[in-house]
Amino acid sequence: MLYDHLLIRYGELTTKGANRAEMEQLLERNVRRALSGWPEVKVTRSQQRIVVQLNGAPVDAALQKLQQVFGISSISPVAVAPLDLAAIQRTAVEVAKRELMDKSTFKVEARRGYKEFPLDSPALQKAVGAAVLRALPHIRVDVHHPDVVIEVDVRKSAAYLYPSRVPGLGGFPVGMSGKGLVLLSGGIDSPVAAWKAMKRGLELELVHFHSFPFTSERAQQKVEDLAAILTTWGGPMPLHLVSVTAIQAEIQRCAPEGLRTILLRRMMVRIASRIAEEVGAGALITGDSLGQVASQTLSALNAVDRVTEHTILRPLIAEDKLEIIELAKRMGTYEISILPFDDCCSLFAPKHPKTNPKLRDLERAESRMDVDGLVAEAVRSREQKLVGTDEGPRAGTTYR
Ligand code: ATP
Ligand code: MG
Repeated sequence: MLYDHLLIRYGELTTKGANRAEMEQLLERNVRRALSGWPEVKVTRSQQRIVVQLNGAPVDAALQKLQQVFGISSISPVAVAPLDLAAIQRTAVEVAKRELMDKSTFKVEARRGYKEFPLDSPALQKAVGAAVLRALPHIRVDVHHPDVVIEVDVRKSAAYLYPSRVPGLGGFPVGMSGKGLVLLSGGIDSPVAAWKAMKRGLELELVHFHSFPFTSERAQQKVEDLAAILTTWGGPMPLHLVSVTAIQAEIQRCAPEGLRTILLRRMMVRIASRIAEEVGAGALITGDSLGQVASQTLSALNAVDRVTEHTILRPLIAEDKLEIIELAKRMGTYEISILPFDDCCSLFAPKHPKTNPKLRDLERAESRMDVDGLVAEAVRSREQKLVGTDEGPRAGTTYR
């Protein structure tokens, strides 16, 4: 196998000085986790690169896994040569033979990260280019618009040769920004919000509210399937399943119909906040998008913000629905999200929700309920699952 290594670059990480070492460690951990299905693979890190020694593991499949790791800017399948000019030339010829089969022009780009190597970059470029031309007389050099660029990266351990860079997902390694708790409904938006939160380096836990037996077991399975897809990028994550059946009954008893959704949302956030505290999550994450529905007007969002001390992150706040759908399709969650199982909100939704709820009215309704007791009971009686530890559904396509 000519390309028996993968070279991983991580761009954005390098711009942050202080905790870079920690970020690099996290990325290395996440890379190892992504490749853990192949025990023969060896991962090492040096000089701002991660090198993966495949030892027989399939290049394409490994590459695909790495395209689901946040924090990677690009990846190259590479051929490795010892630090010796003749060996580098021989390997370059192999790469050229393979890459230039139906193409006619190339150039060599060399970089000498290891300054002890006797040839500098221009000299190496020349020597390697000449060797390729000798071996493949029908091709020529084109420095401006080559069909193929053979990059030669000379490092302390070896020389790495590669003809292409595959883009990575970008963002930050999951875990770098701490932990967030996602309010995961069965809808289209919240899985996309979760993805965006992971992209900025948040490790996730998930909370879903149901009103079993009024919502079905299949509705819950749907949420577990969505969660399983999220583990494609985030690794195994805890899912908290909370019943709000009793709470909904209380809201129905104590409040006018038009306030139901927003009162339920306030209860959800109170509960989520307690769970976040318990599990050490620094923020709550929702799929809210401004103006999308009555519960997502400024005053409704504000009424929700007031019941928690946690920061509520709303990664989709300014996204159009079509953009969100596009993302959901590429993530592979869309097809699951549109399955028509009732969720606790849709069952409970008033015909005419208030778009401009008055805080006073909300508080008056809540004063008739035992808010603290209901929250405590919901938190206490929740069910917990660790999603993504067995072979559940995974993302259909690599989203980028
Ligand atoms: P849709 O794609 O239908 O808009 P949604 O999940 O965004 O689905 P909304 O009613 O718009 O549903 O809810 C706004 C946000 O509130 C969700 O993105 C989610 O973060 C949170 N949320 C709503 N219902 C639930 C629920 N049953 N469990 C957990 N979080 C929920
Ligand atoms: Mg929504």
